[in-house]
Amino acid sequence: MVGTVADSIHRPCYVVGGFVRDLIIGRHSKDIDFVTVGSGIELAEAVAAKIGPKCNIAVYRNYGTAQLHAGNLELEFVGARRESYNRNSRNPIVEDGTLDDDIARRDFTINAMAISVNGDSFGELVDRYDGLGDIARRIIRTPLDPDITFSDDPLRMMRAIRFATQLQFTIYPETLASIARNAERIKIITGERIKDELVKIMRSPKPSIGWELLQQTGLLAIILPELDALRGVEVVNGRGHKDNFAHTMQVLDTVAERSDKEWLRWSALFHDIGKPLTKRFDPAIGWTFHNHNFIGSKMIPRIFRRLHLPLGAEMRYVSKLVELHMRPIALVEEEVTDSAVRRLMNYAEEDLEDLMLLARADITSKNEAKKQRFLDNFDLVEEKFVDIRHKDAELAYRNPVDGNEIMHIFGLHQSPLVGYFAKNLKQAIKDCEIEPTREASIKYLYILGEKAGIQPVNPPLYPLDSDQCTTSPND
Ligand code: ATP
Ligand code: MG
Repeated sequence: MVGTVADSIHRPCYVVGGFVRDLIIGRHSKDIDFVTVGSGIELAEAVAAKIGPKCNIAVYRNYGTAQLHAGNLELEFVGARRESYNRNSRNPIVEDGTLDDDIARRDFTINAMAISVNGDSFGELVDRYDGLGDIARRIIRTPLDPDITFSDDPLRMMRAIRFATQLQFTIYPETLASIARNAERIKIITGERIKDELVKIMRSPKPSIGWELLQQTGLLAIILPELDALRGVEVVNGRGHKDNFAHTMQVLDTVAERSDKEWLRWSALFHDIGKPLTKRFDPAIGWTFHNHNFIGSKMIPRIFRRLHLPLGAEMRYVSKLVELHMRPIALVEEEVTDSAVRRLMNYAEEDLEDLMLLARADITSKNEAKKQRFLDNFDLVEEKFVDIRHKDAELAYRNPVDGNEIMHIFGLHQSPLVGYFAKNLKQAIKDCEIEPTREASIKYLYILGEKAGIQPVNPPLYPLDSDQCTTSPND
C-alpha cells in the first residue's frame, strides 16, 4: 500500500533499520520505519489520505518526520538524510541526502539494511555493508570507522551493548576496542537515554552479557562505579575472596532465568553492592563484609536517582530485598524453628517468594554438597511457610467462644458434646451462616443446645463485645 502511494507520487521508498533486521532474524517488531528520497512528510500525508479518516497522523516539521497510527501498527516516515557531527554535541547538522547517505549514517551493519516497497523493485534488499552476513555471523559492527561512529554519537556504544545482549550477538573486536577507547564520551549523553538502554539490557534473557561488556569497556566505571567496584579479588596473606562481580552476574542470570520480574532482577544486580564499602581483612577469619546488606540497601536511593530509575514502590522493593537477602541463609545456618521462619515471613511480607528466589540464586558455591544442603534447608523453610499459613488460616477461623466457655455456659465437663458444639459453631462462621462475633456465636450455641436438649446454666464468661478468644493470627 505504501509502495503504491509512493509510486503514484514518483518517489523511491524503502523500509529500513530495525524492522528489516527483525524481519530477517524472525523477531517480532511493532514499528516500521520508511525512508523516501525527498520529503518524508509529503509521503506520509499521501499515505494518510489513502488510508482515510481512521488514520492518525503526527507531523514533526522540525525533524522532517511524520508518524502514522493505523490499527496496532506504527509507521514512521522520514526523508533520506546526510548527517555531519560537531564534536561537542549529539545534534548533527542534517541535510537532505540519498538512500546511500541515509544508510551510511546508521549505527550498525545489521541496522543499515533497506527493502524497497516500490512496485518495480518490491522486496529488493539494499545491503551495502553486509548486514546479512553479520546477522548470520551474529556480529554487531559499525558500517564506518567505529571511532567516528561512537565519537559522533556516544549513545551508540550503549546501543551496541544493548543489541549484543538482546540478540546474544558478539561485538566485533575492532568495534569493541573502539567502545573502550571512546568510553569517556558517554558523559555527553543524558541519563534518561542511558537508562533506556540499561532497562532493555535488564529485560533481556541473559542480562549479564550487557553488564560484563559495560564493565570490560570502562563504561560501567563511569555510569555505575559502585557496581564496577565489585570486580576483582584482593589477596592478603595468601587468602583471597570471591570476585563479587562474577558472583553478582551469576546470581542475576539465575534470577532472570526464573523470573521476568524486572525489579527482582535489579535487586539481584544490587544485592551485594555494599560489599566493597564493608570489606575488611581479619587475620583470624579472613575476609568479611559485615552489614553489607544494610549498607547496600542504603545505597539504593542514590543510585536510583542517578540512573533515573523510579523512586517509588520499585525502589523501596529493591532496597528491601537487598537488605533482607541474607536472612534466609542466616536462618538455615542456625536452626529452622517455627518462630524464626515466622519472623522471616513478617519481615518479607508479600515479597517472601521473591526473597526466597533471590536467596536460592545467591548460593553459587562450587561445593556441590554444601550447595545442596542449603537448597534442601530452603525446601524445609518453604514447607514451613505452607504449614504456618495453614495454621494462621485456621486461627483466623478460631471460635469467638472457646471450649472452656462452652463448658461453663452449659455446665458440662469435657465431652464429645463440647467438641460437637465447637465444631458446629466454627463451621457456621466459616460458611458465613452467622457473624463471627461473640454475640452471634452465643445465640447460635443456645440454638445448638436447644436442639440437643440442654439448657444454658451460666452466663457467658466474658462480655459479649470483648474479643477475649479471637486470637489474631500474628500473635
Ligand atoms: P529497537 O526498536 O528494538 O530499539 P531499532 O533498531 O528499531 O531497535 P530504533 O531506536 O527504533 O532502534 O531506531 C531505528 C533505526 O534507526 C535503527 O535500526 C538504526 O538504523 C537507526 N538508529 C537509531 N538510533 C541511531 C543512532 N543513535 N545512530 C545511528 N542510527 C540510529
Ligand atoms: Mg525500532
